Amino acid sequence: MKEAHNDRLLWGMVIDLDKCTGCGACTVACQAENNVGFKGLAGWGKLHEIADTADKERTVAWLNIYRIHNHKPFPYYKEAYLPRPCMHCDHHTPCVSVCPPTATTKDEEGGIVSQIYTRCIGCRYCMAACPYHARYFNWFDQYFPVGTKRYLNPDISVRMRGVVEKCNFCHQRWMVAKQKAAFEGTPLHEVTFNTACAEACPTGAISFGNLKDPKSDVARLSKSPNAFRLLEKLGTEPKVWYLTTQEWIRWWADNVIEEEKAGGIKV
Ligand code: SF4
Repeated sequence: MKEAHNDRLLWGMVIDLDKCTGCGACTVACQAENNVGFKGLAGWGKLHEIADTADKERTVAWLNIYRIHNHKPFPYYKEAYLPRPCMHCDHHTPCVSVCPPTATTKDEEGGIVSQIYTRCIGCRYCMAACPYHARYFNWFDQYFPVGTKRYLNPDISVRMRGVVEKCNFCHQRWMVAKQKAAFEGTPLHEVTFNTACAEACPTGAISFGNLKDPKSDVARLSKSPNAFRLLEKLGTEPKVWYLTTQEWIRWWADNVIEEEKAGGIKV
C-alpha cells in the first residue's frame, strides 16, 4: 500500500459537534455535488412505485448524520449530532489494504482515499474492513427522477449497480484546483479548495483544509485540547477530527465498553 509522502500537504476536516444542529444541509450538499442517486423504483413487478425511503438497503449517503445520546434518563439526558464522512484513514488504511483490484487508493498528494468505480468488482471487502461504516454498495442502478438529470455535476461520474462508493473529500474539486495551480504555477501545498459540506454548513461547524499548513483553520483546530478522532485506539489515524467540550461524547466516540471504563483505560 502506498503512503502519502508529501509532508506539506495533507487534506483534513474538523467538525465541531458543539456547533452541529443536525440540520442535514451538509448531507444534501454532498448528494448534489457528488451525484448521489435517489432511492429509485421499487423493483420488478412494482415499476410504477417509488422505493420506501426508509429502506436501508437502498440508502446511499456519503455523509451520514447520527443522533447520539448519553443513555441517561431525564433530567441528565444529553444528545448530539455526529456527521460521519469517510475518515480518510492515514495509517494502514483498512479499505485500501484489502481491495483486490486496487479500486480504492490513497492519493500520494494530499492523502485523499478515493474510489475508482470502473475497477471495483463489488466484492465488498472494503465495507467489511472499514471500521467507520463509511462505504455503501449499489445494489441497484442509480435513479434520478425525470427532470433532475440536467442538474447532475458533470465533474463526477454517476455509479452503476455492483460497485462501492463513499466520500472522497470532493476529489473532483481538488482536481480542478490542481489544474488551475499548474496553469498559474502555484506550488501544490499552497492550493486551497473547499468541500461541498463545509461550504453548506450554516453554523460553520465543518472546516476543511491542509492539516500541514500551520496557518490553516484545520491545523489549528485539530491541535485543540477539545479535538479527538473516532475510534482512535484502532490506530488508523483518521484525517477527520471532531471538537467537543462534552466528555461523554469523547467516551462514546471511542466505543469504550464498561469494563474498560472500570479498568480506567485512558482513551
Ligand atoms: Fe477506508 Fe473506511 Fe477509513 Fe474511509 S473510513 S479510509 S472507507 S477504512
